[in-house]
Amino acid sequence: MIMRMEKVWPIMNCLLCKSGDMIPATESYFAKVNDGYVIIENVPCYKCEQCGEVVYSAAVMEKIEDLLDHLEKIASKIFIVDYSEAA
Ligand SMILES: [Zn+2]
Repeated sequence: MIMRMEKVWPIMNCLLCKSGDMIPATESYFAKVNDGYVIIENVPCYKCEQCGEVVYSAAVMEKIEDLLDHLEKIASKIFIVDYSEAA
C-alpha cells in the first residue's frame, strides 16, 4: 500500500507498524495507465526498515502524476522510466 504524505514530513516512525524508522531509499513505482503499464525506476522515497512500507513525499507524487499524464498521451503498452532522468 502506498500512502500520501502531505503535511507531516519528514516522518520519524512508520505509520503502518508504528515502530520502524523511515529511511531514505529509492523504489520502483508501478502504475496502470489506460491499457498500459508504467514502471518508474529510482523514485526517491522513505522506506520502513522494519516492515518495508514505502511513502513518497507530496513533491514526488506530483512529479509522478505529471509523468503519468505525459505518458498517457503516448500510445504504447509498457513504459519504463528512470525517475532521476525524468525529474
Ligand atoms: Zn513499518
